[in-house]
Amino acid sequence: MPSPTDRFDRPIRDLRVSVTDRCNFRCTYCMPKELFGKDHEFLPRTDLLSFEEIAVIVAAFVQRGAEKVRITGGEPLLRKGIEDLIAMISGIEGVRDLTLTTNGSLLVRKAESLAAAGLNRVTVSLDAVDEKTFQKMNDVGFPVSAVLDAIEVAASAGLGPIKINCVVQKGVNDHAVPEMAAHFKGTGHIVRFIEYMDVGTTNGWRLDDVLPASEIIEMIHEIHPVEPLAPNYPGEVANRFRYLDGDGEVGVIASVTKPFCGSCTRARVSAEGSLYTCLFASKGEDLRGAIRSGIDVGEVIDRVWSDRDDRYSEIRSSQTVRIGAPVEMSYIGG
Ligand code: SAM
Ligand code: SF4
Ligand code: SF4
Repeated sequence: MPSPTDRFDRPIRDLRVSVTDRCNFRCTYCMPKELFGKDHEFLPRTDLLSFEEIAVIVAAFVQRGAEKVRITGGEPLLRKGIEDLIAMISGIEGVRDLTLTTNGSLLVRKAESLAAAGLNRVTVSLDAVDEKTFQKMNDVGFPVSAVLDAIEVAASAGLGPIKINCVVQKGVNDHAVPEMAAHFKGTGHIVRFIEYMDVGTTNGWRLDDVLPASEIIEMIHEIHPVEPLAPNYPGEVANRFRYLDGDGEVGVIASVTKPFCGSCTRARVSAEGSLYTCLFASKGEDLRGAIRSGIDVGEVIDRVWSDRDDRYSEIRSSQTVRIGAPVEMSYIGG
């Protein structure tokens, strides 16, 4: 089957599937409590894609060139029976890398069964290793130690090397960067510091809140010298660095200061089955509706991808005015 390319000649290589819009954390930059309070209405169950529908969508993407599939959310481990979905996707021929991004809160319980179902690796999000900063950011009083335990359990279950996502917000957790890097140096786990992005409308993002990746690396380099490493593959979003003393690597994702739209081969499907061709899109294409009315999702994907001309991060500026409300991170999954 020929793989579609978009208007900038970018193929489809990665697929991110959100399996729920719910989360047990209220990270202040993603699902602030004031907006995601007790009376917030999440998607009703019937609106979520079923596992069978997700499998149909994944298979259609794989036939069109997707090799990597990442399960995300909300918090994906809150979705009941998630291991069954993992088993279904890992059985699809052509899926080369099946991963999942999680806040780690339920991972101690689930790591073994996820690995047994065919999950290759997990990425665990952790924004600081000091209790005060982390709890302030997750805003539900979740302890650092439980996430650190989850990382070890996942590694023992064979879900490593574990990548650890740390979103850096100036004035909130930038002071925690050196400690975070030092904590994981020499463990075999790889921390990736991510520039805080202007996703959605609820986090009140300002360009001033972004600590540039170059400064993050500089902070680390001053304490533990590093040097750049070549990418693992063309188009890798993280810039990799190795510690000069041989104690492993660390990465930065400069989504704001050094956008990588030119090599963006990612498609995203929300929990209710909308296809988004950019993290900053305000409108998706309804794949769930297509499946439920017997339309071939493959044809929908071909049409939407061939028409894709997204490069939001390359044209963003502090003055950027966005047309339409962009989708929230907790909905599309990062
Ligand atoms: N709940 C899971 C978790 O936190 O790992 C999966 C979903 S979460 C939306 C996926 C990733 O997006 C997390 O690593 C999170 O830190 C990141 N994220 C959320 N909002 C962000 C923002 N405004 N800028 C950069 N990364 C963000
Ligand atoms: Fe939940 Fe992940 Fe968003 Fe935090 S970043 S609120 S853990 S979805
Ligand atoms: Fe891809 Fe859109 Fe991000 Fe650019 S802004 S890298 S097109 S998701």
